[in-house]
Amino acid sequence: MLELDEWLSKRIDQTKAAGLYRKLRTMNTAPLPEMLIDGMRHLVFSSNNYLGLANDRQLVYAAETILNEFGVGSSGSRLTTGHTEWHRRLEEKIAQFKQTEAALLFSSGFLANVGVLSSLPEKGDVILSDKLNHASIIDGCRLSKASTVVYNHIDMDHLEEKLKKTSHYMRRFIVTDGVFSMDGTIAPLDQIISLAKRYHAYVIVDDAHATGVLGEKGRGTSEHFGVHPDVVIGTLSKAVGTEGGFVAGSRVLIDFLLNHSRTFIFQTAMPPSICSASYAAFEIIEESDTKRKLLDSNVKKIKTSLVEMGFEVKGDDTPIIPVMIGEPTEAVIFAEKLQENGIFAPAIRPPTVPVGESRIRLTVTSDHSSNEIDYLLECFYCIGKELKLI
Ligand code: PMP
Repeated sequence: MLELDEWLSKRIDQTKAAGLYRKLRTMNTAPLPEMLIDGMRHLVFSSNNYLGLANDRQLVYAAETILNEFGVGSSGSRLTTGHTEWHRRLEEKIAQFKQTEAALLFSSGFLANVGVLSSLPEKGDVILSDKLNHASIIDGCRLSKASTVVYNHIDMDHLEEKLKKTSHYMRRFIVTDGVFSMDGTIAPLDQIISLAKRYHAYVIVDDAHATGVLGEKGRGTSEHFGVHPDVVIGTLSKAVGTEGGFVAGSRVLIDFLLNHSRTFIFQTAMPPSICSASYAAFEIIEESDTKRKLLDSNVKKIKTSLVEMGFEVKGDDTPIIPVMIGEPTEAVIFAEKLQENGIFAPAIRPPTVPVGESRIRLTVTSDHSSNEIDYLLECFYCIGKELKLI
């Protein structure tokens, strides 16, 4: 038997040989469109701070006030000593925002997905899961005692076929991302819900990238389509600008999760200061659509300009803009050239995306100025021409 480190070194060598080795970069500034990364100034087009709330002064003030009052850590799980009035207030706020009866906080969106999928569907049930669902949904399905059946990405015919073939299961749950993190596609929740009604299935939607972004008031995919899924999962770490996850739904659902979801029961509660900052974020999102409108016009400007230049751009109108390059080596070269020009936007390669579909995954925020976007587009044009992609 090899020494542990010797064996792990070999494993890392394999990861490197497969071109999948990852390493950390240090951010030396707050999440803004322009940041110091490893000491160098970059224009960042890869952050989830879609509405620029992560360093909004109102959120910082809200966190600071409660930080001074309640201290740094919550020091207990929600069911012991970790539940404060700020957890309660934020849950009420999320329920009101998502237009559901109740909501429950988790320490992250990842843990919310895992917590729901490992507790709600039981042995004898089946989960129908979109092929491009987030890793936390996949892990939740793996932990569940229910079976999992994967359907092709937003392919409603395939989902229906799978529904027809799974009628012998006790209960059926369809689970989908609202906005898909690598493709920027929006799940057709209206069609998913009508299929679910026809075939007697429950619908779970992970609205991580849609909360604060989609719908007239930013309530997410449900508002975008005017529908009501059974379970809405979300994160506070993207448009809301803070940290943590949540589930919104009926009072009974929340009571069930509070009693059965292991990632809720056995996790230390979120810090109250972060709950207070998140509460302030939802108030900002509810009060004004200025940020959402700015975000929307930034998305449209980037997408239409790139398409006019001749780039293939995937997805619907969301802040996730995948620019298709094709081969992984070319995508890496493209990302490196962007970085030489001071732009930070990652190359996404297999196995994260299918072979031949390597891409630059741009994300845009409401805080990007038109000058910053013009510069990004200028760089894309020059690099695209240089690499003969357009
Ligand atoms: N779902 C989706 C679709 C995501 O993209 C992410 C974050 N990458 C999560 C869930 C997890 O959320 P969190 O970062 O709050 O754990």
